[in-house]
Amino acid sequence: MERELPGSGMTESILPERKLLYKGKSKSMYAGNDDRTCILEFRDSATAGNGAKKAELEGKGALNAEISHILYKYLEENGIETHFIKMLDDTRMLVRKVDIVNVEVIVRNIAAGGFSKKYGVPEGTPLKNTVLEFCLKSDGYGDPMMNESQITAIGLASQEQLETMKDMALRINSLLYALFDRCGITLVDFKLEFGTYDGRIILADEISPDSCRFWDKATGDKLDKDRFRRDLGDVLGAYREVLRRLRDA
Ligand code: 5GP
Repeated sequence: MERELPGSGMTESILPERKLLYKGKSKSMYAGNDDRTCILEFRDSATAGNGAKKAELEGKGALNAEISHILYKYLEENGIETHFIKMLDDTRMLVRKVDIVNVEVIVRNIAAGGFSKKYGVPEGTPLKNTVLEFCLKSDGYGDPMMNESQITAIGLASQEQLETMKDMALRINSLLYALFDRCGITLVDFKLEFGTYDGRIILADEISPDSCRFWDKATGDKLDKDRFRRDLGDVLGAYREVLRRLRDA
């Protein structure tokens, strides 16, 4: 049986046969209909500690796909160009095919996670200014932090591209912080990835509880992947709660 995927012009039986371009820890990228598009699939796999801890959380893929969908639409409406084109089904989105910049951009509003550990700043300490960090996107090397001169020296990005990425990351932070604030959630920190499309830097990858820290404003409860990393339980309940609040926002 073939089922038409809403608005995609494709049928369900066709999608799984598409050429797998890349399989990451929680997402897969398939070839699209042409060389300008790809299909990004959000899987149920969860990993932490660079793959040391693994689990399958049924429904996580669909939750992250829908959360990313809502956030990409919101960012596009507010002038941020992203790779998102449209949803194909619950877990798959059609995206623009970018040349990924192999640099992860981390944005921090409050000390937590790696920042707290590295610099001895207690989790929850508000930061006097937004912190931007760059890391090499490399599981093999454990995503080490890099400075701008290191990035330009080995040609991962030009200084102009870095300036664009920094500017976009700060604008994205302001937009997302305000949106999540309305949802009763503090946006603690998050990771972004960018790619080039027609020579322009655009936002790629995902924005979801897998790549952000979300704290409930009223209770301080963690509503993100730290529930999995730190064995806090009810991971999917937290992801569902983020989606529910975004839908109501
Ligand atoms: P930290 O450096 O504190 O571990 O992470 C900072 C923020 O970036 C957190 O919200 C974390 O989820 C996100 N982050 C950092 N590295 C990665 C990564 O390799 N993959 C994903 N999905 N998120 C990351």
